[in-house]
Amino acid sequence: MFVDSLSNEELSELSEKIEEGFLKNYLQKRMVELANPMLVCPVCEKRVSEEEDLLIQFGPKGFRKKARFCGHDCLAYFFDKQMPRFAEKNILEKEE
Ligand SMILES: [Zn+2]
Repeated sequence: MFVDSLSNEELSELSEKIEEGFLKNYLQKRMVELANPMLVCPVCEKRVSEEEDLLIQFGPKGFRKKARFCGHDCLAYFFDKQMPRFAEKNILEKEE
């Protein structure tokens, strides 16, 4: 488990966070983010903010999809390697 690699100090900090309920809230928030493709970069799963993102829209009118990327690297990688897979799985959100 990842906890085996933590120092005594880190374990103590983690233990406090668990007692405070912080970790549970954090994990729940993170799961919501990962379940919502507009909140995380589809390539690296980093949180994307609306101020810094690169938003693309594609697809025919009425079936347009959106994806939000954290940077140019991830955007380029997406078009190169991942777009066919994502389009197939229909992971990206449809325009409302
Ligand atoms: Zn990214």
